[in-house]
Amino acid sequence: EQVGVVIVGAGPAGLVLGNLLLDRGVDCVILERRARAAVEGRARAGFLAAHSVRVLTDNGLAAGLRARGRTHATCLFRGDRGEFTLDYGRLGRGEVHTVYPQQELVRDLVAEYLRRGGELWFGQEVEEISAGRVRVRGGQDVTGRYVAGCDGHRGVARRALIAQGTRTSRWDHGVSWLAVLAEAPPSMAAVGYALHERGFAGHMARTASVTRYYLQCPRGTDPAEWSEDRIWTELATRMRTAEFGPLRQGPVLEKAVVDLRSDVLESPGAGRLWLAGDAAGLISPSAAKGANLAVLQAELLAHALTEALTRGDETGLARYAADALPRVWRAHEFSHWMSGLLHGPADDGAEARYGRALQYARLESLRTSRTHQDYFAENYTGI
Ligand code: FAD
Repeated sequence: EQVGVVIVGAGPAGLVLGNLLLDRGVDCVILERRARAAVEGRARAGFLAAHSVRVLTDNGLAAGLRARGRTHATCLFRGDRGEFTLDYGRLGRGEVHTVYPQQELVRDLVAEYLRRGGELWFGQEVEEISAGRVRVRGGQDVTGRYVAGCDGHRGVARRALIAQGTRTSRWDHGVSWLAVLAEAPPSMAAVGYALHERGFAGHMARTASVTRYYLQCPRGTDPAEWSEDRIWTELATRMRTAEFGPLRQGPVLEKAVVDLRSDVLESPGAGRLWLAGDAAGLISPSAAKGANLAVLQAELLAHALTEALTRGDETGLARYAADALPRVWRAHEFSHWMSGLLHGPADDGAEARYGRALQYARLESLRTSRTHQDYFAENYTGI
């Protein structure tokens, strides 16, 4: 028996897509490698752009984020010449972020998908995808008119598409972040970016009792090298707490190293296999765009697949790349710029001094130019 769409992966991309397809009367099944508890407990993103909130609201998927999400409209920059706050909700297009932990969004999306009568199988690892047939390890093949690869950056869908000849463009930002989740209330209104000669440090509010911190670290760092003490001491130094006041500390719940890399597939699909989210491209976390691009692509793909399956019209699928890629590239361009703003060179040669001076010139431009601030706000919140 053949279903309309076999969706591989129950992350934000697969779950938004599944919910939208069910809503439009398209039958689908989601296959997820991990257990439900693991998927619903994985803390990653937190900042939803206005566009993502609109998509979720328009499709009846925003009850949780409306009830428990908090809007944030400011960010703080700190460096050796002081600090300043950008009230980006009053700049650019006047859009704000909604802070809602990714695992809570995933939990809401799973519950709603099941409530709509969708089929979702956890613990099903897809090994191979070819011509609409999805092979599950130790299980039965599932065949779809189309397959939606939403299985993230290390998934099978991306490999299958590359094997068909799709090329990638990629960039290695050359830096890594120690991503820390602490059971501690936020120490600033929302987001803080600290530039320091020892490396970047970031503060991202998550909930009233949980805060995410980032510390730039050398590539290849083992998180085990970072004790709680070392984490809080280094955060205090880079965030200049002696000058600006202490951080509210608490136990470290999680620590992981994220390498800042970006890539984009030249075309996010062909024939019967179409990709959305991290499967179609990875964006460095420097501007918190990944989950938002996943929602955007799921929305576009849901529309195109619905047209194909209900009206036999594949023009939407043919246009999917042209619709998605310009917006994906705008996000990459801004994320790349943010990465340049946040990370100075590590050594002390002439080129490093030049690089650091440029970093501060960028920051100074952002501090003083209203035009630059509007441009920043538009791109920071936009998708
Ligand atoms: P994923 O969330 O990776 O989901 C893919 C799913 O597919 C997973 O559940 C996986 O188990 C499953 N899967 C994989 N392989 C298979 C297989 N073979 N068979 C079956 N299932 C499979 N983005 C933002 O927008 N804002 C932020 O603030 C932000 N912060 C981040 C912080 C960190 C520390 C990290 C790591 C990322 C952050 N991101 C952020 C990025 C964001 O989390 C990702 O872009 C987002 O999760 C992508 O969603 P996705 O559905 O494409 O992929």
